[in-house]
Amino acid sequence: MEKIIIIGSGPAGYTAAIYAARANLNPLLIEGPQLGGQLTITTEVENFPGYPDGVEPFQMMDDLRRQAERFGTRFVSGSVTKTQLTGEVKTIVVEDEVTYEAQSVIIATGASAKFLGIASEEEYRGRGVSACATCDGFFYRKKTVAVVGGGDTACEEATYLAGLCEKVYLIVRKPYLRASQIMQDRVLNNPKIEVLFEHNTIRLTGESKVQGADLVYRKGEVDEDMRHIDIDGFFLAIGHKPNTDLFKADVQVDAEGYIVVTDNTQQTTCAGVFAAGDCCDPHYRQAIVAAGSGCKAAMDAERWLKSLAH
Ligand code: NDP
Repeated sequence: MEKIIIIGSGPAGYTAAIYAARANLNPLLIEGPQLGGQLTITTEVENFPGYPDGVEPFQMMDDLRRQAERFGTRFVSGSVTKTQLTGEVKTIVVEDEVTYEAQSVIIATGASAKFLGIASEEEYRGRGVSACATCDGFFYRKKTVAVVGGGDTACEEATYLAGLCEKVYLIVRKPYLRASQIMQDRVLNNPKIEVLFEHNTIRLTGESKVQGADLVYRKGEVDEDMRHIDIDGFFLAIGHKPNTDLFKADVQVDAEGYIVVTDNTQQTTCAGVFAAGDCCDPHYRQAIVAAGSGCKAAMDAERWLKSLAH
């Protein structure tokens, strides 16, 4: 029986492991399908404190992993396929093959940005396609980019990018924005942002990186039209999906699927189960925030395990 199992290998999971290991909880960390988490889809990390010259994301995640290992964290690679988290003994099944038992669990499975699902999006991933303006916007200074989406995230990202870029197209599939009024006003009053209502992206073009996008206007209508825009970067802002489907039976999630944590701690609604990082954070989605919540989750788990012993 493990004292603690941590699921997820992003900044939240590794930080939880560092703290749990230093508290002598001998954690077992299940690394999941995307080693290093969402951060590894960005180009360079420049906003994580402690790296004044920036850091390559794989390097940073390897640093965190080695730090967790140094204090005794053990690692299992593979996807969790089944869990049973209620009751005193929590069970976690990896790849439908190996079952682990634990007294406590930290869920740090992150979230995944939604993508449009067009083929060229995959082709140019990391070469002009991004789902995080805060992470990658800097690389497009004085260039032209497009942001897809009509919600608060898209408006926020378009406004942020307009502060760096020469021009920003905002590609919106409906004839209106869904974002809050204040965010809409910021976008519509920004001379650097051109909103393309009722447009959908059908393909990205370019030699070895994104150089343009083919759009369709009012698809299926009598006035349907095609348009090509020249761009250097293509940012998706059509929402995120927390990776929590496996846990919904045992822990409470909100309407969007984010795990609910209570009382300003990382405790979920299920005793002995904690959550950290983007799987329980619809607001910030930053590595440093995820790492901070990983630390909190490990400390909460340690206290909870101590309370069992008394
Ligand atoms: P939303 O779900 O609010 O918006 C997603 C947007 O993407 C919508 O405009 C939607 O279009 C569009 N979209 C979805 N799928 C596609 C597709 N396949 N092709 C083209 N467009 C698509 O997500 P957000 O991430 O913007 O926001 C999530 C939550 O976080 C919201 O509650 C938001 O208010 C909140 N938030 C708040 C912020 C703030 O207050 N500062 C900042 C960021 C987010 P359609 O409208 O047609 O469905």
